[in-house]
Amino acid sequence: MQDALQLLQMQQRILLSGHLRADGDCLGAISVLYHALQALGKEVQVILPNAPDGRYGFLQEHTPWTIFSGSLPNYELLVVCDCNQLSRLGAMGELVAQKDVLRVVLDHHPIAKDHGWTALFHDVSAAASGLLALKMADLLGVKSLPLAAYEAAFVALMTDTGWLKYSNADAAAWQAAARLVSHGVNTERIYDLVYQQAEPERPLGIRVALENLEYLADGRIALCWVPQDRLQEVGGRLEDTDEVLDLLRGVARVEAVALLSERSGLVKLSLRSKHHLDVNLVAAQLGGGGHARAAGVTFEEGVSLTKAVELVRQGLLKGFREQGLDA
Ligand code: AMP
Ligand code: MN
Ligand code: MN
Repeated sequence: MQDALQLLQMQQRILLSGHLRADGDCLGAISVLYHALQALGKEVQVILPNAPDGRYGFLQEHTPWTIFSGSLPNYELLVVCDCNQLSRLGAMGELVAQKDVLRVVLDHHPIAKDHGWTALFHDVSAAASGLLALKMADLLGVKSLPLAAYEAAFVALMTDTGWLKYSNADAAAWQAAARLVSHGVNTERIYDLVYQQAEPERPLGIRVALENLEYLADGRIALCWVPQDRLQEVGGRLEDTDEVLDLLRGVARVEAVALLSERSGLVKLSLRSKHHLDVNLVAAQLGGGGHARAAGVTFEEGVSLTKAVELVRQGLLKGFREQGLDA
């Protein structure tokens, strides 16, 4: 981790980024770093591989970002937050891969040995990348951050722990939450901004998911999917899939939940589990990754929704067998 800190101290023009379809943790970590590095007098820019979920747009007021459109600004060091594979940056990752420029990762996902990054600021035990960003700010000697940075860290922590209800919400997570509140974070305001500003069409997206729901493995797997044409037909929206996943995790017998949706022609899978199934292993076999209780896959171009649903069905059943949960 020392190397990553030294690189940040030494370089002046720093570019921050994160994974495709940036979520609260990704944007939260980026925002904390943005303010911390500015406090150290660095020139900082944020570029995202594509548009993030609209619910996090409010963060842009204090952390301006641009969306990648084919070229990168001049920089000395790239810091990628909340993922550790360049493929998670889409077309932007391909461009980065061609450049011989320093790149650092700040992340909490499992990482391969031959990762190819210049340095890592990495801890899989961290509940959110946003907490690692706070730690990085501390270690860089940043004495104080603006309220917007604490709010962003709070968004990161709360969205990745499901408002502190998932199993990754450990003592450090609760302590961090307390620290952020003591710095003035208005929790009700943040809850409202993240979870209570949806468009009227949003619940109709959930309806489409529930229209296509099946239970497998004696009710321990809940699998559902959202065909794009049906979504358009009902006028629904499904930007963030966590509402559906949480709903189905609420079923007592359900251990694992899968939701497939179509986005820009690609099929995206979200996987969650409650206590036992390591969904990261299941996702990895399908070409994705994540954590033990939350993972995802973006299927390759040309894989239809029907085909992906079948791959996921088989993948989950195999996961149950391989992990000794089919008894
Ligand atoms: P999501 O279902 O998109 O909220 O993702 C759940 C978790 O899996 C997050 O920690 C993501 O970073 C991770 N994840 C999602 N999609 C992928 C992917 N294609 N490859 C690797 N990890 C992923
Ligand atoms: Mn993320
Ligand atoms: Mn995260």
